[in-house]
Amino acid sequence: MSSSYYLLCVSHDPALRIDSSFTSPDAAMDAIAAGLEEHPVCDLLVARVSGALCEVGCPPTRNQRHHPPCLAHGGPKWADADLLRLLTAVNQTDDVRVRDVARSNAFSCWSIRRLHRLRLELGTPALLVLDPSAGTR
Ligand SMILES: [Zn+2]
Ligand SMILES: [Zn+2]
Repeated sequence: MSSSYYLLCVSHDPALRIDSSFTSPDAAMDAIAAGLEEHPVCDLLVARVSGALCEVGCPPTRNQRHHPPCLAHGGPKWADADLLRLLTAVNQTDDVRVRDVARSNAFSCWSIRRLHRLRLELGTPALLVLDPSAGTR
């Protein structure tokens, strides 16, 4: 089955599916780079769907119109939907050492706020761990 790509606005809670569909990841990333009239300063991600949601991509930092949670990256960063589900679960554990893994630099694109807002796409529970050390990124 071929993949299609659509944009997600995670400035909204829960994330809003933007009514657009692309046949390649580059076309979707280019649309974000060009800017969206309806979401001029929003936090935008790309979803890859092949039957079900497969992956979510964070656009290159220079193409993001808001202050992104992630460490700067020059190309898109993709994460498997299952990895995002795991990170959601890990973010909710009581074990601080395990939780710190989900909040490490390796996963900086997938902040608690973004994961929480992606919950309907991922089929995960709400995740607003309002732990002050978690920050608001
Ligand atoms: Zn928006
Ligand atoms: Zn990122």
